[in-house]
Amino acid sequence: MLSLPHLAPIKIDLEHPNLMTGTQVRLNPQETPMPRLEPIPRSQAFDWRPLAEDGRQASPAPILSVFMAQYAYVRACAHAGSDLDNEVGGWLVGKWRADPHTGEQFVVIESTLPAVHTRQGSAYLTFTQDSQVAMHALFEERYPDSELVGWYHTHPRMGVFLSEYDTWLHANFFPEIWQVALVIEPHAVTGGFFIRGVNGFLDPRRYFGFYELNHGDDRSVVHWNNMQRRTAALPAKEADEL
Ligand SMILES: [Zn+2]
Repeated sequence: MLSLPHLAPIKIDLEHPNLMTGTQVRLNPQETPMPRLEPIPRSQAFDWRPLAEDGRQASPAPILSVFMAQYAYVRACAHAGSDLDNEVGGWLVGKWRADPHTGEQFVVIESTLPAVHTRQGSAYLTFTQDSQVAMHALFEERYPDSELVGWYHTHPRMGVFLSEYDTWLHANFFPEIWQVALVIEPHAVTGGFFIRGVNGFLDPRRYFGFYELNHGDDRSVVHWNNMQRRTAALPAKEADEL
């Protein structure tokens, strides 16, 4: 199992962006120390869990649940399917919240911001200095009231995991404990979220499912082969404790 590199989260300075040499772009100038309160929207969502959980129970529980709007899911999957040979990716845009009654934390992914000017290769995707600065400007312009809740990228024919480089990138550019990483495998049509545990640890081999926000519609748009939809046989709270 890969472990997190021993690197402190680095604040990124937009004035002096130099992504490739270690002086970095500040992505979240208005950091919020605590999430805003909002009821967790479980009743408006389908609960998707990985089919095979065997051998992955030893990891600590994730610090939060991920909710993804159908619009954002479709956008991410369309981008993932647009290039089956090279990695593509981008940012996940939304909000970080806590339920006012339970205190349970969650993020809602409302949209995606595809990366521009990336250097693409079959084995890796690099968010270059130019791409991060351009994306930051777009993000501020289009989503002034949103938060950068994480990033996504594809692994054509490689499976759903975080490479050592991915883990480094996540630790350095998405250092908030609530920021998540989504990996999509467009050939196998699989995907999963990487979410830090309560101790801040991120297991690069263990992906989690998510809640598909359907806003009361009974149609799902999720089609990943490695996920199954949990039915409402159990109350949500009990199901979570299993
Ligand atoms: Zn990767």
